[in-house]
Amino acid sequence: MSTNQQRVTLLSIGLDLRQEEDLQALLGADFALERFGSGAKGFFSPKTNSALLAFVSWRGMHSQLAGLARNHFTMDDFPSRVLILDAPVAQADVERIVDAGFSAVVRYPFEAERITALVNQACESQGIYKDLYHMAREICLEREILSRQADLLQFFNKMLTRASFSLDPVEILHQAHEDLRILLEVKSVEAVFWQKNQAQEVEAELFIHEHDGKVTQDLLIQYLLEHAAKHAGEKVTGFHVNFMSRIESMRNLSTLQDEDMLTLPLRFGGQSFGCISIASERIARLGRDRLQTILAAVNHLSLALRNALLYREMRIRADRDALTRLPNRHYFDERVFLELKRHQRYRHPLSLLMMDLDHFKQLNDTHGHQAGDMVLEEVGRILMNKMRSTDTPARYGGEEFVALLVNTAEEQAWILAERIRKEISSRRFHFNGKFFKVTASIGVASLQTGVLTTAADLLGEADAALYKAKRSGRNTVCSSIEDEEECRQFA
Ligand code: GH3
Ligand code: MG
Ligand code: MG
Repeated sequence: MSTNQQRVTLLSIGLDLRQEEDLQALLGADFALERFGSGAKGFFSPKTNSALLAFVSWRGMHSQLAGLARNHFTMDDFPSRVLILDAPVAQADVERIVDAGFSAVVRYPFEAERITALVNQACESQGIYKDLYHMAREICLEREILSRQADLLQFFNKMLTRASFSLDPVEILHQAHEDLRILLEVKSVEAVFWQKNQAQEVEAELFIHEHDGKVTQDLLIQYLLEHAAKHAGEKVTGFHVNFMSRIESMRNLSTLQDEDMLTLPLRFGGQSFGCISIASERIARLGRDRLQTILAAVNHLSLALRNALLYREMRIRADRDALTRLPNRHYFDERVFLELKRHQRYRHPLSLLMMDLDHFKQLNDTHGHQAGDMVLEEVGRILMNKMRSTDTPARYGGEEFVALLVNTAEEQAWILAERIRKEISSRRFHFNGKFFKVTASIGVASLQTGVLTTAADLLGEADAALYKAKRSGRNTVCSSIEDEEECRQFA
């Protein structure tokens, strides 16, 4: 069996027994002549395609040659055919049949030299064919490897340059999503970051897409929080969700499939500060090289995201007043400028409050500067609690506060100012065992629809209204359009 396997197969088609014996004798023991069509599976046997040559008898096959030529001999991988002229035949017929797909013609009885030459030539061609076949395969493989490496390079190049361009976590995650698409079909890229608050508790911030299904969304939040707790090594006491753009839910899942998610920790200086979660139905089928590429990319993303978070923190610090944590004057002035522009476009009402604490110098003198600071902090909290999320309260300087109220006309602004005034004046402040009261005067100014006003004009009007309130005896709200006598006085 094993020796048989090493022998080279040749096919015999239509040869009689005698011809086959003659041919086998000439071929020798290294070659095995097999009758074509005698295999258990019918006409083709597994050896058909690997046969070196097929000898076809004109006498035995001439009635079927035309059909065979069409149906089988024309198949590309059928071995090269040799026609045996073993009966008288017209020259025109031979030409026709040779055209139909024969590579050579031999006469019968066989000439030993002719057969040996044919077989040697066929062996040589088959050797060349095999070499070419292997070379072509290798070229294809190398091409594939090159194209993969080109993909990886392109991916790295894009990822590394683009991630460092932005200082916005949402944009970085969005870019990462786009870039990862070079490597695999990504459904979403989401992240969770955590840090300790003043009470040293772990608080998480999530950046997720708005998913179609509430179930999927809640599961995703839960999933990311679990990962945050695992990597932070502590319980997550609070979290905040930032929704990015809306995407189609991955599937109608009742549970998130771990094999669809690749969640990797984001590290900086040996410590993890977040996790990035890549959702793709191909995660389980990721090859080692791609996985390693993604890991390397995530390391770089860690750096970019860390920078973005630090930058955001710095900005918040720069925009806020250290004592009250309210936005500071610089931030407020920018907002006024922006809201004025928006007002010019959309014509929505816009109001501004300017508040100054009454006799604050006296309070400092009586109860000490620290008591004054405590009051300022408390007033900051009152302002925060009374405002809508779209309003901007700020510490304008010293014991002076301002608030920009969008979509608020003068009357509503006055009502809000009055509530703030009341809240402050009714509060019993307490410091170092002493109780005391504080009052505030507030000026209200509003934009008249269609009238072009600058930020300085609006602030000036509010300041003038505040001045009126002070003059009318303090602990009062005055609007810019009221006469001084009309300002209600509660002192
Ligand atoms: P009026 O009712 O006219 O506004 O009187 P006032 O005393 O509040 O006004 P004045 O402008 O004379 O004094 C403001 C005081 O606010 C002076 C200053 O010591 C105090 N002040 C400003 N900033 C701070 C601060 O950050 N902390 C403390 N404790 N006091 C401050
Ligand atoms: Mg003042
Ligand atoms: Mg004052």
